[in-house]
Amino acid sequence: MKNYSSHFLALTFVLITGCAHQFPDYAVNLSSRLPTPGKAEAIGDYSLGCLKGGETFTGKENGLYLSQKKRGRYWGHPDLIKLLTKAGSEFYKNHKQIIVGDMSQSRGGPTITGHHSHQNGLDVDIWFKVPPAQEELTFSALETEEMKSVESLNDDHKNLIRFFANDPSVERIFINPSFKKQLCSDNGPLRLSPEQQHKMRAWWGHDDHIHVRLKCPSDSPECLSQKPVPQGDGCGEDLNWWFGEEAKASDVDASWNDLKSIFLDKVKSLPEHCSFYKDIF
Ligand SMILES: [Zn+2]
Repeated sequence: MKNYSSHFLALTFVLITGCAHQFPDYAVNLSSRLPTPGKAEAIGDYSLGCLKGGETFTGKENGLYLSQKKRGRYWGHPDLIKLLTKAGSEFYKNHKQIIVGDMSQSRGGPTITGHHSHQNGLDVDIWFKVPPAQEELTFSALETEEMKSVESLNDDHKNLIRFFANDPSVERIFINPSFKKQLCSDNGPLRLSPEQQHKMRAWWGHDDHIHVRLKCPSDSPECLSQKPVPQGDGCGEDLNWWFGEEAKASDVDASWNDLKSIFLDKVKSLPEHCSFYKDIF
């Protein structure tokens, strides 16, 4: 496990420093440092928190692809690693592979690019892109840029959604509004149950993936739960909003300078228990 992680860490450093933006030193450290030792704990909010004792994969998780490794966001609470490992082996039986995108940084916390949440080790993006053909379905890594986009959900995607939506540790799943629409109108054999549909929530920025969020684990007393998912299936009126002008107007991209100052504000506002995250500032 150690060797596997350090392999990724070296890559992380090289690729981040080679990026177009001038990344401050702390950004490089954020994606390359090790987790704190000891018992894992999810602390704070999904969008303002951190991760103690972060865990990652051993490299023996058949059925999983790890993508976007250069970002150094392949750490999570053990519940998340357990769920992904279970998902991988489940799909591996049918010769399918799951593409794991961003999880959390080694110590969770805010990231300088990409995400508001994914901060306390309980969030993971699962990509729907089509990976290049490969003979083996063993655990491996590649970048999402190497994959083709998908236009609509196929049966494999639906099975994957059903798997995650069914798991009692999953709190909610974010999905792009067009895919949600497809799920809402699905009358086929893979249609979701009302409970599964309830967990699937349309949200910004999930064009080619779903974002699976776990409930606060019982071993994490400082973890802050989110307001419950609104009642109902999230289809109909709720969903129509996403196709209106109001939704488009709210989806504004921030500039690089904005991103940096939003990031530093977040670091300052982290819960007290996250001091181990802040030691590089
Ligand atoms: Zn996400």
